Amino acid sequence: MMAPVTDASKGLVLIVEDERPIADLVRLYLSREGFGVQVEHDGVAGLAATRRLRPVACILDIALPGMDGTEICRRMRADGDWTPVIFLTARDDEVDRILGLELGGDDYVTKPFSPRELVTRVKALLRRAAGPPETDRVRQLGPLALDLGRRTVTLGALPLTLTATEFDLLAHLAGRPGRVFTREELLAAVWGYASHAGTRTVDVHVAQVRAKLGAAAGLIRTVRGVGYTADA
Ligand code: CA
Repeated sequence: MMAPVTDASKGLVLIVEDERPIADLVRLYLSREGFGVQVEHDGVAGLAATRRLRPVACILDIALPGMDGTEICRRMRADGDWTPVIFLTARDDEVDRILGLELGGDDYVTKPFSPRELVTRVKALLRRAAGPPETDRVRQLGPLALDLGRRTVTLGALPLTLTATEFDLLAHLAGRPGRVFTREELLAAVWGYASHAGTRTVDVHVAQVRAKLGAAAGLIRTVRGVGYTADA
């Protein structure tokens, strides 16, 4: 195990990946961008590292010795750790499983991937997790109150637990009630990139937000053939 770089200005990114060439490549690209990088090669050590090092973001391979990446993420969320997570998947059919499991992951990249693309995703995630500059604003949507500074959502008096991505998606829709956003627009605004291949990501995250809104799920309306809108 290599020691983490602790003086990196942008914070520490944890990579849990058992294929060393991939881990080394990602480490190189992230280091160049000013991130500290810690690499773990098995799932158990990876989960321990999330607790010990408090990284700013985690990149988790799915199939790992010891414990799958999905299980690491599930345990992080169960512990109340909402650090942004990007999954690395080896196969396209894993994507459906990841998205369907409601593990609380924020994004995924399918192998083989461009390290530059992965770095872009990490930076986009961190920009979002840092929150918008308008720190004192509360955005109201029907019975929902979104505190953009604290990044919390309450439904009436009930606090809701959303992932960083779910929060950003809801906040974006709530920012302009009645405006219909296409999936590509939402991908660009919330995930920081746009591609047709990623549009089902939007659908799955909308479904997860709705599930958490419970009785208020109808506030996010599907506009068939177009995208989504928030009803004021
Ligand atoms: Ca693997």
